[in-house]
Amino acid sequence: MPSPENHQPKALDQLDVPIEQLLGPCSAAVRGVIDRILSGTELSRLDGEILFRASTQELPALMRAADIVRRQRSGSDVSFVIVRNINFTNVCYMGCRFCGFAKRKEDEEAQWIGMEEVAHRAQVAWDRGATEVCMQGGLHPDLPPTYYRDLTRAVKKQVPGMHIHAFSPFEIWFGAHKRKMPTKEFLLELKDAGLGSMPGTAAEILDVEVRRKLTRNKLTTQAWVETIRAAHEVGLRSTSTIMYGHVDGPEHWAAHIDLLRSIQKDTGGFTEFVPLGFVHSESPLYVEKAIPGVRAGATMEEHIKMHAIARLMLTKWIDNIQVSWVKLGAERAADLLHAGVNDMGGTLMDESISRSAGADFGEELTPPEMVKLIRHTGRRPVRRNTLYHVVEAYDDHDPIDLGTLKARAHDPIKFIKNAATQREIA
Ligand code: SF4
Repeated sequence: MPSPENHQPKALDQLDVPIEQLLGPCSAAVRGVIDRILSGTELSRLDGEILFRASTQELPALMRAADIVRRQRSGSDVSFVIVRNINFTNVCYMGCRFCGFAKRKEDEEAQWIGMEEVAHRAQVAWDRGATEVCMQGGLHPDLPPTYYRDLTRAVKKQVPGMHIHAFSPFEIWFGAHKRKMPTKEFLLELKDAGLGSMPGTAAEILDVEVRRKLTRNKLTTQAWVETIRAAHEVGLRSTSTIMYGHVDGPEHWAAHIDLLRSIQKDTGGFTEFVPLGFVHSESPLYVEKAIPGVRAGATMEEHIKMHAIARLMLTKWIDNIQVSWVKLGAERAADLLHAGVNDMGGTLMDESISRSAGADFGEELTPPEMVKLIRHTGRRPVRRNTLYHVVEAYDDHDPIDLGTLKARAHDPIKFIKNAATQREIA
């Protein structure tokens, strides 16, 4: 099996070839599905599965179809958001086998950052032009029942203008149980405290059997769906995600995307779809070979397919397809802009979940680096807020270069001066 690192699909060399020519080597089945989507017909779960099983020769046509649909639905803009990820605790006993992030309380690397420090980090992010903090953590058994509410209030009090994007459906489920409140009531309490939206993480694969293999304690598919629906119903929008490339396959991927689309048809609450490739190297699932046949993550072909097919299946329902540069690296993420992607996600500043699982890529892509990367693909870089409203377009200027957060620690005066200028402009 080719590893994700050494496989550069030929599809990326055929960006100038007309789609009619690319359809030449395709089977009747794949050609039929691509014809249907290009004539405006919604794809079924089975159509998605056919595309996920497409061969290497069929990949360029699939990728081009996704690129055409992306252009029709979201134009040439590629967006990103200035955001800081704050993982406030890594203590968790849920035992998800794919997770390299969780620690036990007594572990040396166990962390639980105080609320004041979280609020301070949010302030630093704001001073660097961030419009969002993304806060997620482990399900620490000692979190007080009102912890999530109080943390939200603390950050909002410190930085009233900051959009708080926080708490996965699993954290919401956990928090509601601690608080002894029905989910909706709990969500309303958080919304009232200043929660702006939620990450649609903890979805992994919404398939009962695969989930059971990944973890015994994790939120069930049904509970994930109910929590997300409840969030959308109280007016909290969320992202949607998939984690792929472990013990899953085409049928699970197509069914997962189909399920997300059906939720979206009812609620309209998803802002985007974010494929998250399984990062295997520090994950117990892979390292301890906890399940026979567990894979070392998806291949590059599968990454392309996941983004392209999501674009094709979700069109008109979820029109923002994000690539995770943290999981894939900046260059490969930029390659996927040719496979249906229109969003590069966040600049992050510091992030620990993917790094704990063994992702090798940086902690931060600064706004100037992000803009340069996007321009290199021939597309138009724009900065957005969490809910996909464009805040700034970089047609004729670059973002101010504040350097990375780490570099800032070495040059505080330059940072403060630049930060003030940046805020005036924003
Ligand atoms: S994935 Fe989340 S819930 Fe599962 S062990 Fe890791 S931190 Fe805990």
